[in-house]
Order: sequence, then C-alpha cells, then structure tokens
Amino acid sequence: MNFKINNRFIEELPADSVLENSRRQVEGACFSYVNPKKTSNPELLHVSPEMLQNLGITKQQADSKEFLNVFTGNDILPNTQPYAMCYGGHQFGNWAGQLGDGRAINLVGIDYENKHWTLQLKGAGETPYSRSADGLAVLRSSIREYLCSEAMHHLGVPTTRALSLALTGDKVLRDVMYDGNPAYEKGAVVCRVSTSFLRFGNYEIFAARQDHDNLKILVDYTIKHHFNHLGGPSKETYVAFFNEVAQRTLKMIVHWQRVGFVHGVMNTDNMSILGLTIDYGPYGWLEGFDYGWTPNTTDRQHKRYRYGNQPNIGLWNLYQLANALYPLIKDAKPLEKILNQYKTDFESESLAMMRSKLGLKQENEGDKVLIQTLEDNLLLIETDMNIFFRNLSSFKKLSRNSWEDFIKDAFYNQDDFIETIKLKWQSWFEQYAERLQTERLSDSERAMEMNRVNPKYVLRNYMAQLAINEADKGNYHLIDELFQMLKKPYDEQPEYEKWFAKRPEWARHKVGCSMLSCSS
Ligand code: AMP
Ligand code: MG
Repeated sequence: MNFKINNRFIEELPADSVLENSRRQVEGACFSYVNPKKTSNPELLHVSPEMLQNLGITKQQADSKEFLNVFTGNDILPNTQPYAMCYGGHQFGNWAGQLGDGRAINLVGIDYENKHWTLQLKGAGETPYSRSADGLAVLRSSIREYLCSEAMHHLGVPTTRALSLALTGDKVLRDVMYDGNPAYEKGAVVCRVSTSFLRFGNYEIFAARQDHDNLKILVDYTIKHHFNHLGGPSKETYVAFFNEVAQRTLKMIVHWQRVGFVHGVMNTDNMSILGLTIDYGPYGWLEGFDYGWTPNTTDRQHKRYRYGNQPNIGLWNLYQLANALYPLIKDAKPLEKILNQYKTDFESESLAMMRSKLGLKQENEGDKVLIQTLEDNLLLIETDMNIFFRNLSSFKKLSRNSWEDFIKDAFYNQDDFIETIKLKWQSWFEQYAERLQTERLSDSERAMEMNRVNPKYVLRNYMAQLAINEADKGNYHLIDELFQMLKKPYDEQPEYEKWFAKRPEWARHKVGCSMLSCSS
C-alpha cells in the first residue's frame, strides 16, 4: 500500500508532550501519540470493497499480510505516527470533563482522488484517554458498527465509514447487562474511516479549560480544512461555521427520523463536527413506530435519547457547541439566531421529509394535519414503521385498493386491528386518496419516488444479532449476506425478501435485539 500520506492533523495541531501511554488529564493538546496494541492472532473477517476503492487499495493489497497487520494494529505504516484525540463531552445532559479516544487510535491521514481520509482503529488498545476501561472492543459491537455505518451510507445518511472488520485473537472481559456476570468475548477491531473524527467535545474541552488559544487553533484548523468556503479566521467566519454545523446536524437527524434510526447515545462527544453519524454503540431501528423508543438500556429510565427526542437533543447539543465557540465570537445574538433558526428549519425540513415519504411533491396547507393524523394512527397499535411506508407505495389513488391488506402486513398483532381502529385508518386513506388527486404523478411514478426514500431493507436489531450469533460460532457468511443486501436498501432484491419482515417474536425482549447496553 503506498498511500499519499497527509499528516496535517498532527503537524498543524498541538501535541501532548508526554509520550508515555498512561491515563491522565491531557492539557493544552489536541491529541497524544500512542501506538495500537499488538494482537495475538488477527484474522480479517470482512472488507468493504467500496472503501477499498475510495482509498485506492487494490483487492490484492487487501488480501496481503501487510493489510491484515496494519488494520489490526500489529504494524505501523512508515512515516506515520498514530495518535488518540483529546475531547470532552456532555453525557446524558451533564458535563463529563475529559473523555477522548479511549479505544480509538488514528493511524494516518491520506489523500486520494482529491479527498482526505483519516483511518482509525476502534478497539486497538488503551490510550491516555481510556480512563477505567481497557481500550478494547468485542466482536458483537464491532459487527454492529461495521455493518451499520456502511448501511447508513447506502441509505444516503451522512456517516463515518468502515474499511475492515477483524478478530484480534484476544479475549475481552465484558459485563453485558451490568449485573455482575462478566464473561469473556472475542476481541475485534474495526477500521473506521472519515474525513475527520472531530466532535463537538473537541471544542468543548478547550472552552471548559478556558484555553482559548488552543480553541482558536482548533477552530481555525477545522475551518481551513473542512469549511474552507467560509473564508479566513474572523468572528463572521466563526458564526458562519456554527451555522453550517447546525444545518448539517439538522439534516443528519432528519435522515435518522426518515429511516427510523435511533442513535442511542447522543452525547456531545458523539456529535461529529461534520454532521456525520458517528459512534455506533447501542443504536437501534424502530420496528413499531414509537416516539418514546430507545434501544439503550442505560437510558431506559429517562429515555433522553428516544426516537422522538433526537431533534431536540441535536439542538441541546448545538447549544453546548455554541457555548464552546462563544469565547471566540463574544456575541451571543448571532448564535441564538442560528439556534432559533434550527427550530424553524427543523419543522419545515421534517414536513418536507414526511411529504416525500408519502409521495407528495406539491405543498398543500392541509399536509400538516394529514401527516399528524397518520402519525397518530401509526401509534394506535404496534405498526412496523419501515414496512408500513414501503407498502404505502402500492396504494392506488383511484381504486383505493386493498389498503387493509398492505397495512395489515405492518401490524405486529392482527387481533389489535379492531373496528374503531379500522375506521380511523379508512378515514385517513380517504383523505390521502383525495390529497393525491392534487398531484401530477401517476401511481407508478409516485411509487418509484416513494421507494427511493422509504427503504425496503434496514439493519433491524435482530438481523445484526443473528449475524453476531453465527459469528460467535465462527460462521461469517451472514455478515457478508447482510452487507451485500444493505448496499441497495431501496431496491426490491427479491433474493433477500425474507429480510423484509417484521421483527420475529423471539427477538422482542432479547438482549441485543430490542435492548442494548453501552458495554461494547
Ligand atoms: P461512548 O459513549 O461509547 O462513545 O464512549 C464514551 C467515552 O468512553 C469515550 O471517551 C470512549 O473512548 C470511552 N470508552 C468507551 N469504551 C471504552 C473502552 N472499552 N475502553 C476505553 N475507553 C472506552
Ligand atoms: Mg463515543
């Protein structure tokens, strides 16, 4: 592999002068040099062909010993100095102080075809930021991150990417349900790839420490390399920078809402400054449409990060970023204006997104009510969100065909579909049919448009769990099957029809399927 190395992050930003890999507070620095831990018996389980291409790595190179060793941490590429980033964060609404890359190690920055990529190993051992944990990752969480980040990309949701998934050959001790029953699991490493892994927390940590010089250095660096179109360092540019981060964050969350993705841990250390979905931990996908659902057991009580609250949390997190940037701007007004704009924009973009899910091209005054009634109906009995919207595209506006049949497919319990509920749905379908009269598209044209925004295949929680169960037994074919299928989530792909199905009942209360802990 002969990468065109671009070490700008470590060359342009302040480094921790201590080279020892000991857990500590790291001040006045954006990162610490640290090498990945050597693994005892690494084995590559999967590689993303799209990412190979994006990085200019050939298939042959991906099969080499060099690739295996570099992307499991056993070898370090020449002319590179791996490092862990220093950041802080608000966790579950409280300032948590220094966090940092506790188990992520950035290997190298490279340029390829006019794009910059940072390659990072997750689960490659301890760093100065590992606090009380081991810096490692287990196979189950690595499979989940690997599959989901690539699937999100193919769904059209901004996200960090994944290059490879490997076993380390080492065992890792985890207490999955935090109930005092730790067990050894297979260790794994994912190579994640992103233009940048900077998070809100990278800026917050300098602001919290009142280190405004380094805050400015980092913000200027970010603008120079990632928001260059905004201009040189000035207060106006900083405001424009915040505005763009707010817009990107909002767009990302609207996509999440569209596909029914619940991140699960929207702490500010898990918010990318580029508006990418980052840190796939106890995330999940809505099955029954439910604003109150969260996959994260740690958040079971308050459900701060539930599906319906994601837009508000995006805003809350942006407030924290605004506070962090304030010392460079010293004027709250423009920041407040942007935060208020987020609220207005969120309403209009959500409405536009819901219109697209319904196949409505024109804007109509009554759409808000139509959408509100639909959402109320979806909450009446447990109704699978993605199956409902996918099936909705087969509705015919004139014949008002068998809507009952296709919505029934989305119900978890047919017995719940009682007469009063039927009437509510009938009334909604009548309104929908009427509304469609004002549209120019034919039924088949509308279906095509709708099928481009309503995915047929998403990585349902039980599907990832099945792949994990198989992988635990040493069988990796399901990882590949899901990976291939999720490349074309909007296509019919009849060969994968069995995955277009509601969550099976066995998975309803199963750990890993409907509930996930942060233990990973
Ligand atoms: P998360 O909420 O999972 O993104 O993690 C919060 C913080 O904990 C981050 O600073 C992570 O780097 C750190 N962390 C999570 N798991 C581990 C681990 N196994 N070893 C070391 N640090 C970890
Ligand atoms: Mg994190």
